[in-house]
Amino acid sequence: MATDMPDEKFLWNVFQSVDKDKSGYISANELQEALSNGTWSAFNSETIRLIIGMFDRENRGSVSFRDFGALWKYITEWRNCFFTFDKNNSGNIDNNELKSALSAFGYRLSDPLIQILLHKFDRFGQGNILFDDFIQCCIVLQTLTSAFKFYDTDMKGIITIDYDQFLRMVFSLKI
Ligand code: MG
Repeated sequence: MATDMPDEKFLWNVFQSVDKDKSGYISANELQEALSNGTWSAFNSETIRLIIGMFDRENRGSVSFRDFGALWKYITEWRNCFFTFDKNNSGNIDNNELKSALSAFGYRLSDPLIQILLHKFDRFGQGNILFDDFIQCCIVLQTLTSAFKFYDTDMKGIITIDYDQFLRMVFSLKI
């Protein structure tokens, strides 16, 4: 799902149009206004927070032009990925589409777990997941999986941790 980095001039134009207050930084609100999930509803603010957190190397809660290219590339790749799995072009993905997406990413998840994910990230209770909620689901899943893998050193899919380790694991997550 790799895409080439768009050229600098194109990115600068996008950056300028997203940076409404001309602060030189893209804030969470500015990014939220610029992105669409394909419906009338606002782009998931939790997804925005996660994405800004990933690319905000200056720790300001906003993204400079220097990091904007990587952010834009990331969102473009997710969009391409989403449309690959939205087989019926409905603009959202259902249970089966979510299942094939996650298994293509290498996750082996049970059907009841897929159901839980669908339910958790289905913001509007319509039995399917929108583009922005899909990104959130994938980032959360990835973060939790790598936290688990940290303890699963023999890669058997089973970890034994005590209460203190469990809390440290949970509280150190960036989600
Ligand atoms: Mg700004």
